[in-house]
Amino acid sequence: MQDVIVIGAGPAGLALAACLRAEGRRPLVLEREGCVGAAWRRHYDRLCLHTDRDRSHLPMTPFPRDWPRYVPRAQVVAYLEAYAARHGVAPRFGAEVARVAGLVGGWCVTLTSGEELVARHVIFATGVSEQPHCPTWPGLDGFPGPVLHSRAYRRPADLPGQRVLVVGFGNSGGELAIDLVEAGREVEIAVRSPVNLLPKELLGRAIGNWDVVQKLFPYRVADAITAPILRLMLGDYRRYGLRRAAKGPIAQIREDGRIPLIDLGTLALMREGRLKARPGIARIDRNVVRFTDGTQSTFDAILLATGYRVDLRPFLGDLPGVLDDTGRPVRSGGELAPGLWFCSYHTVPNGQLREIARQAPEIARGVARALDQAAAVAVPR
Ligand SMILES: Cc1cc2nc3c(=O)[nH]c(=O)nc-3n(C[C@H](O)[C@H](O)[C@H](O)COP(=O)(O)OP(=O)(O)OC[C@H]3O[C@@H](n4cnc5c(N)ncnc54)[C@H](O)[C@@H]3O)c2cc1C
Repeated sequence: MQDVIVIGAGPAGLALAACLRAEGRRPLVLEREGCVGAAWRRHYDRLCLHTDRDRSHLPMTPFPRDWPRYVPRAQVVAYLEAYAARHGVAPRFGAEVARVAGLVGGWCVTLTSGEELVARHVIFATGVSEQPHCPTWPGLDGFPGPVLHSRAYRRPADLPGQRVLVVGFGNSGGELAIDLVEAGREVEIAVRSPVNLLPKELLGRAIGNWDVVQKLFPYRVADAITAPILRLMLGDYRRYGLRRAAKGPIAQIREDGRIPLIDLGTLALMREGRLKARPGIARIDRNVVRFTDGTQSTFDAILLATGYRVDLRPFLGDLPGVLDDTGRPVRSGGELAPGLWFCSYHTVPNGQLREIARQAPEIARGVARALDQAAAVAVPR
C-alpha cells in the first residue's frame, strides 16, 4: 500500500509533492498527460500571469528575481519543470485516474487502464479548469462557422473568419477579444450579466496585492472603500453597454465564486470603438446571432470564453459531506473524509497559485501527522 497518492502534476500536485517530500514522505504523483504543468502548456500564447510574480510562486521556490513581474506562460512552464526537478518530484505520466473508492484503512485508485493502486491517503489536485463549460442556444447547431471553447484557443489563426463573437466577459474573454482585435478581426463580445472590472495595478502595485484592505475590513466594507477609487480609474463603463454589478468585486468572488475582469486593455478597445459589447444571446439563425435586447449581428466564428465547471462525481460518485450537489468539494482544501484530501477547488480573491502555496504545506503537514499517528498506533509498545 502507498502512503500517499497525489492526482495531478499541475502547480497544486507539484507543490503538494514537494511539501510532502520536505516532510520526509515519498508520494506517488499520477498525471494523465506526458508532462508537468499540462494546463499551462495548453493556455493561449499571449497569456502572462495576471497575478504578481512575488505572490504566485509555489512553496520554497520563488520565481527568479529578474523575471517579469507578470510571468509569461512559457516561463511559468519552465518554472514548473525546474520546480519538479529541484524538489525531486517525478510523476508517473500517462496515468489517468478514473475512480477513487474507499476501502478499510485507505483508498483504491483505479486508472483508466484498469490498474488498481491502493493508498492510505489520496489528494486530489486536478484543478478547476479541466471541464470546459459550453452553453448552448437555440440554433447553435446550424451556425456554419467554427465554435471553439477558449480551452482550445492558442492564437488568432485557430479561428478562421473575419467577424468573431466572443462569449463571456471573464479574464479569458476580455483578453482573447484583445488578441483577436489586434490581429485585425472585427470582434463583438456578448456579456450576459452585470460585471465588475479591476485595473491591473493600483498605485503601482498589482491589484491582487491589495489584500491588506481585505485583512483590515470585512469584505463588503473593503468593496465600499475601494469602489470610488475603481470608478475614478476605470470611468463609467456603462457607456459601452456594460452593466455594473450590484455587488463589489470581493463579494462577487466570495459569494458567487466569480472572478472579476482584470482589465488588460479591453476597456480601451471599447472606448476606441474597436470592440463592441452585446448583451446575452437569445438565438442563432445560421450566421446571424440575435441578442436578448432585440439587436442582431452576423459572425463567421464564435469563441466561447464561458469558463469551466468542477465536478468530481465521475471519480467519487455522490459523497455527501465531501462533494456538494454540483460535484465540487464542499471546502476548497483539506481533509474532507479520512485520508481523502483536496487542494484548491474554490475561487479566491488573490489568485489560485497563492492559495495553492498556502494550502499545500498545510495538507502535507496534515498527511504526515496522520501517517505518524497511524504508525505509532501500529507499533506495539
Ligand atoms: C487562462 C488561465 C489563466 C490563469 N491565470 C492565473 C494567474 O495569473 N494567477 C493565478 O494564481 N491563477 C491563475 N489561473 C488559475 C489556475 O487554475 C492556476 O494557475 C493553476 O494552473 C491551478 O493549478 P492546479 O494544479 O490546481 O490545476 P491545473 O494546472 O489544471 O493542473 C491539474 C493537473 O491534473 C491533471 N489531471 C486532471 N485530471 C486527471 C486525472 N483524472 N488523472 C490524472 N491527472 C489528471 C491535469 O492533466 C493537470 O496536469 C489561471 C487559469 C486559467 C485557465
